[in-house]
Amino acid sequence: MGDHKTVLVLGGGVGGLVAANRLRKLLSARHRVVLIDRERQAVFQPSLLWVAVGDRTPEAIQRPLAMLVRKGVEIRIGTVEKLDAETRTVRVEGQDLVGDALIVALGADLAPETIPGLADGGHNLYTLGGATAFRDELAALTSGRVAVLTASPAYKCPAAPYEAAMLIAGALRRRGIRDRVQIDLYSAEAGPMLVTGPQLSAGVRGIVESKGIAYHPEHQVTKVDVAARRLIFAHGATADFDLLVRAAAPGAGGRTRCRTPQRERLGGRRPPHVRNSCRRRLRHRRRHRDPARNGEATPESGRLCARGSRGRRPQHRQRVDGTRGAPYVQR
Ligand SMILES: Cc1cc2nc3c(=O)[nH]c(=O)nc-3n(C[C@H](O)[C@H](O)[C@H](O)COP(=O)(O)OP(=O)(O)OC[C@H]3O[C@@H](n4cnc5c(N)ncnc54)[C@H](O)[C@@H]3O)c2cc1C
Repeated sequence: MGDHKTVLVLGGGVGGLVAANRLRKLLSARHRVVLIDRERQAVFQPSLLWVAVGDRTPEAIQRPLAMLVRKGVEIRIGTVEKLDAETRTVRVEGQDLVGDALIVALGADLAPETIPGLADGGHNLYTLGGATAFRDELAALTSGRVAVLTASPAYKCPAAPYEAAMLIAGALRRRGIRDRVQIDLYSAEAGPMLVTGPQLSAGVRGIVESKGIAYHPEHQVTKVDVAARRLIFAHGATADFDLLVRAAAPGAGGRTRCRTPQRERLGGRRPPHVRNSCRRRLRHRRRHRDPARNGEATPESGRLCARGSRGRRPQHRQRVDGTRGAPYVQR
């Protein structure tokens, strides 16, 4: 390997952007940082909810990836079709690119097609197209039933569906038609944001219901009857709607063909840095949940600790420049 190394950053979402920016600051100019994404614009996903209720324009929540060029990051627009972590080779639009290190930040794909009717029966709040289409229909709505749906119990950003329902309630209230529109929230999971612990979950549920939103937990949708505008759930219940928005859909996992020997090397176990970080989080949760030690548990119980920053210390720079393995950079 020569003096000049190339880091390929796959994905220009939050993870890829932060990684590319940090690396560009850490590495000397002789090393290349190349960011690859199929889209030209980076969308700030948390703000999709505001777009959906007309509080932000689509332009306000996205920036061109090309802005990174002036910082010294090379941008390649194209779909990552295949990657081989062993040889650090990535196929982009039929062309093979080889890096000295890879960062994979391709996010999570959604798979609404796994539930009949879901893709056509409502809008997907997790995309810009879905958020703007929902915004337009919501603006035209004067009465009826809005259904907010989580179509699987586990999905990215567990707060988003609950936040969405409350933002919709606020938008309708500002238009003076809140009393004419019923909002139902059907969740596949047993309660809001359960990952944060039962107390916080109950607190969120209370806030949602205080806005007059009818909450229906443990409603796993199995089919959307598009013509009848009806949701059909696993336990046999049905519910009608005029406007359906899904704030989460079943995940498809990565669609990129990936050959990664790491799992094989680890015998199916998590990599050491992930194991350690999980242990730290569990310790933190136990400590804060143990009433004998800390008195009554607080609403904060179960919150995840912020991780220590990576990359600031010299050894992290060394992981990229030198020969050691690194948590996020596969050599
Ligand atoms: C509505 C909503 C609200 C949210 N609110 C919050 C919040 O309040 N707080 C919070 O912490 N998180 C929130 N999140 C979650 C947060 O946005 C995600 O966790 C974060 O975006 C994940 O970052 P990522 O870089 O892993 O993936 P992503 O941001 O999804 O980026 C993946 C990138 O990879 C690209 N890509 C994917 N496949 C390919 C391919 N094959 N070839 C080329 N490019 C590809 C995509 O175009 C995309 O740019 C929210 C998410 C949503 C949808």
